[in-house]
Amino acid sequence: MLELKKITKVYEVAGINQKALNKIDIKFRKNEFVSILGQSGSGKTTMLNIIGGLDQYSSGDLIINGTSTKKYTDRDWDTYRNHRVGFVFQSYNLIPHQTALQNVELALTLSGIGKEERRKRSIAVLKKVGLESQINKKPNQMSGGQMQRIAIARALINNPDILLADEPTGALDSETSIQIMDLLKEIANEKLVIMVTHNPDLANEYSNRIIKILDGKIIDDTNPYDGKEDENSVETGKKTSMSFKTALALSLNNLMTKKGRTILTAFAGSIGIIGIALILSLSNGFKVEIDNFEKKSLSKAPIIITTQSMTMDEAMIDDMNNNELKKYPDTKEVYVKENELNMMVHQNVITESYVEYLEKMDMSNLSGIAYERGTNLIVVNKDYKDNYNLVSALNMGLAPWTLLPSNPNETDGVIDNMYDVLVGTINEDEPGLIIQVDIKNQIYDTDLKVLGLENKESVTFEDIMNQEIKIILNDDYYIQMGDIFYPNQKLEQLYNSENSITVKVQA
Ligand code: ADP
Ligand code: MG
Repeated sequence: MLELKKITKVYEVAGINQKALNKIDIKFRKNEFVSILGQSGSGKTTMLNIIGGLDQYSSGDLIINGTSTKKYTDRDWDTYRNHRVGFVFQSYNLIPHQTALQNVELALTLSGIGKEERRKRSIAVLKKVGLESQINKKPNQMSGGQMQRIAIARALINNPDILLADEPTGALDSETSIQIMDLLKEIANEKLVIMVTHNPDLANEYSNRIIKILDGKIIDDTNPYDGKEDENSVETGKKTSMSFKTALALSLNNLMTKKGRTILTAFAGSIGIIGIALILSLSNGFKVEIDNFEKKSLSKAPIIITTQSMTMDEAMIDDMNNNELKKYPDTKEVYVKENELNMMVHQNVITESYVEYLEKMDMSNLSGIAYERGTNLIVVNKDYKDNYNLVSALNMGLAPWTLLPSNPNETDGVIDNMYDVLVGTINEDEPGLIIQVDIKNQIYDTDLKVLGLENKESVTFEDIMNQEIKIILNDDYYIQMGDIFYPNQKLEQLYNSENSITVKVQA
């Protein structure tokens, strides 16, 4: 049912060609449990990605159910990826603040299946992986083995014929690994399971076939298949109701419409909106369509590379969470939501050589580069109960326009295009706070805290406009006693000090 014919994959890095796969020839049975062994860099992941349609082969052919994929259209690949294969990775790739159920359901969102059916199917598949009693837990409340079970459930939700697993037990202890292997083995009774692993013992014990690869070539196959044992099944022709392109277009619209008022924290943020598939694809080197998407989105919103970055866009998740709130409310009230910025999942190490690399980029492709060096301001507020609070870690978001450099003409209209000013004015030449709300007039709890309005029962625009915060100078804040500097605890005094800088929301 699945055959690789002289599949070669060449990566070009800095002008040098790197052959990750070298004329791979192999056939797989309709259901079997295949383990792929090989040292790091031997091409295991590349092979899996090509089998799953996440990456494209350079030459050769991938035959799916007797059909060559050479002439596959984007739409064919969409269908294949969405309905025929499921993916499981070492790092579970779950959305941390979504429940197990929501994580699995999300995978169905793009399939155009109704809400109730989605729920029913998700619960059923979670039951199958033994998580029935845990469906409302979030990944961060679960063990590694449980998280991997969610990932497996997600991979199975569309009832694929093929399950691809890239070192699924790589992050698990041996006991948990065994449980996951048992589960995969069971799945292999009715599906083709191809698993990359570092662990020969697990491979020997659980799989029916072990393939060893070295330098992009298969050097051993314990149970080769000549294609004769079982008949090719007929292409079932399930169609994706929302194509990859449509999904991209939709997310782009969400991102770019003026009404969206969505702030783009990072490019990855915008990717999150179309759901898990693309995130997985991205982290696994799938480049189809991305180039195009980049061009369109980046012309309006810059890429922001922060030391910590968030990989989820709020908008989609929010739609699932806070359905009862009205969009574009006409009341003058904001609502609290949990700050997803606390759920950042990725840490960028920004080194000098990285900055050098940025500097050397082809500037004809860029409108400019800007740098921001963050520093924490010492901020004291007087909250609505007249208490003084130190809110030093001021969570100041980077607005896209603050990073649009070089060509002043290009920045014209960015705010106009992406945001509505609901109250007050925006004056970029004056210091002042700009508070962002989303399409449902929601604001982060952490931002309300900075403003001293946290836990207030209702917060009106006026409340926000009336609040002011004070930035305290280091010289005032730190009191020298001998060789040591102590933080000044007298917040009221600091707040009222004439040295402190008053900042208000721009009126
Ligand atoms: P494995 O999974 O066996 O560790 P991979 O399939 O990830 O190996 O990588 C095989 C070879 O291809 C390695 O030399 C790796 O550096 C190279 N490679 C993999 N992905 C890319 C990529 N996106 N760009 C350039 N080279 C890559
Ligand atoms: Mg790998």
